[in-house]
Amino acid sequence: MSDITSSMWDDLDGQLLLPDDPGYHEARQVWNAMVDRRPRMIVQCASVADVIVSVRNARELDLEIAVRCGGHSVLGLSVPEDGLMIDLTPLSAVRVDPERKRAWVQGGALLGALDVAAQEHGLATTAGNVSHTGVGGLTLGGGMGWLARQYGLSCDNVVSFEVVTADGDVVTANEQENPDLYWALRGGGGNFGIVTEFEFQLHDVGTRSLTVELDFPVDEAAPVLAGWRDLSATAPREATFAATVIDGTVTVGFVWVGEPDAGRQLATELESLGQPTAERIVELSYVELQTREDSVEGHTQRRYWKGHYFRELTDATIAALLQHDPFVAASLQAYGGAIAEVPPEATAFSQRDAAFEYVAAARWTDPAEDEDRIRRARESAARLAPFASGIYVNVLSDEGSAGMSRAYSAEKLVRLATVKGAFDRHNVFHLNQNITPAVG
Ligand SMILES: Cc1cc2nc3c(=O)[nH]c(=O)nc-3n(C[C@H](O)[C@H](O)[C@H](O)COP(=O)(O)OP(=O)(O)OC[C@H]3O[C@@H](n4cnc5c(N)ncnc54)[C@H](O)[C@@H]3O)c2cc1C
Repeated sequence: MSDITSSMWDDLDGQLLLPDDPGYHEARQVWNAMVDRRPRMIVQCASVADVIVSVRNARELDLEIAVRCGGHSVLGLSVPEDGLMIDLTPLSAVRVDPERKRAWVQGGALLGALDVAAQEHGLATTAGNVSHTGVGGLTLGGGMGWLARQYGLSCDNVVSFEVVTADGDVVTANEQENPDLYWALRGGGGNFGIVTEFEFQLHDVGTRSLTVELDFPVDEAAPVLAGWRDLSATAPREATFAATVIDGTVTVGFVWVGEPDAGRQLATELESLGQPTAERIVELSYVELQTREDSVEGHTQRRYWKGHYFRELTDATIAALLQHDPFVAASLQAYGGAIAEVPPEATAFSQRDAAFEYVAAARWTDPAEDEDRIRRARESAARLAPFASGIYVNVLSDEGSAGMSRAYSAEKLVRLATVKGAFDRHNVFHLNQNITPAVG
């Protein structure tokens, strides 16, 4: 780097990492081990001022920008090849006001930090199911979790955002200030700026939960899945029904957040659906629940996934699901409840009428298997495509603009493009599920 270029970074509170610096290789690694890109520079931002300097300098140097929070986008969208990676992970503080039931969460925080800080007071807000996922990417795309049927998606619980724009300005987005930006940030992804702080509404959720899982062989599972679906339709909001098909076994059950005894009653109804080969009913603290998948969903594996939303889970959909590829993990998670009560036009997030989210996920370690594993996940999802009503933007992988048309209605795409045009007309923030700016 020339002296002139290096002086641009003199005032950083955090660290600038170049390819030969210690820590550079760790910093460019993300959740999906297939991602192996080499940014020209990584700025580990320790302040909002660092974020502003990074945006302005990157534009001056004509470097492609990527923004990293948890690094869990399956495509590794937070790592640019030869560009500038704005690494928000040092900005990970969470402050909770238990009286006002609010949390202020910096833009690089992981879900676990939010859960732990809020649970000290028996509080929580909707967060995803794996604690090393980033608050940033998850919330900006929607944010589904075990509390969503009670309290809405993560994005529904954001009362205010602090954002660094493409011009390096700091703006607030909430009901009063920049309401269009506030609308777009709740489901429109990282298109509109870099969120440096989220202010969340918290809820009294207590600290207890129950997980219920019953295993059945695939060839006996069709009537069980149909019964599980029917129970899900009338289940209390404390219950989020979930099912997986992995390696010849179908697991049906639910996660209950609240007093476990009421959850146990619902478990009895589920048990009447058939004779499982194994059964696990486990009481956990809420924080334990939120970390129980951390290891199995850990880093270092190669990953690919495809998803769908289903407005209903018909018997034909179940039959297609059970034509299972043993190398692909298929999962279903129920929506409904408070998610569906938010008026569709209130946020950019679409698909509030989804009854179930489906993901076909492949993971492996040998690069020689890349093509085969990706093909299998694609074929699994393709079998379910005729029944799909759309897709969750945070589950989109390499579908491009066709995927965006499945994630958002045509009307919402137009409005998103207008907000994008107002805040990022040159599409500086394009390493995301991208909205093309409408430039008037
Ligand atoms: C193991 C695992 C479990 C998951 N579980 C759930 C779940 O339970 N519920 C759910 O809804 N989703 C879940 N997801 C999907 C998840 O929501 C997306 O992968 C999401 O993009 C991850 O966000 P991140 O911050 O970790 O990723 P990153 O790759 O860091 O970011 C993803 C995108 O968001 C942008 N971005 C991130 N932070 C900011 C910010 N502060 N400001 C502006 N842009 C930003 C990035 O630039 C990038 O485009 C899961 C994913 C994984 C890998």
